Amino acid sequence: MRDPAIGEILVQGDELNRRVSQLGTQITADYADRSPVVLVGVLKGALFFLADLMRRLDVPCEVDFMAVASYGSATQSSGVVRILKDLDAVIEDRHVLVVEDIVDSGLTLQYLLRNLRARGPASLEVCALLTKPARSKVELEPRYVGFEIPNRFVVGYGLDHEERHRNLPFVATLRQPEPGGGSGADW
Ligand code: 5GP
Repeated sequence: MRDPAIGEILVQGDELNRRVSQLGTQITADYADRSPVVLVGVLKGALFFLADLMRRLDVPCEVDFMAVASYGSATQSSGVVRILKDLDAVIEDRHVLVVEDIVDSGLTLQYLLRNLRARGPASLEVCALLTKPARSKVELEPRYVGFEIPNRFVVGYGLDHEERHRNLPFVATLRQPEPGGGSGADW
């Protein structure tokens, strides 16, 4: 049964598969002479994207994770970021590819890149599953992007709302709850 909180599907499961496969091919070619590559997954939203992407890479690769929390409201980031979990690995002189779920204003990613760059990696690039170009507040173009989406709040394929809906096999908008109950309009 479809959850009434879920609105329009923006990216179907088969489109996700196809695009992740294309990104895997592209990254494999680009990193042929830059391996091993350290994939840095940003928890928790990038979980499924990272796992699927990594299985499409045909170059030596390692994986590590960071968890960050952005101060701000539930749906609006402030750009002031707290590191909840840091990398286990030392990335100095390593080739690093940050794997993000979504870039909205870009403020979180900007902070993260500044932080990682200070550790002296040999190279530092970003692969984001989703971007919202209309919302961008910073000069920052991830090297690899899965899909550009409109300015909507989305869930699924790892992305949550209050920890729910990560397990959806597609990316969909969330319907904003009405104060008196009911499933209301799309966010
Ligand atoms: P930014 O700093 O780019 O504005 O926000 C990035 C973070 O905000 C993402 O890593 C994600 O955690 C959260 N975020 C931004 N837009 C969405 C969205 O549409 N859906 C979900 N689930 N999270 C979002």
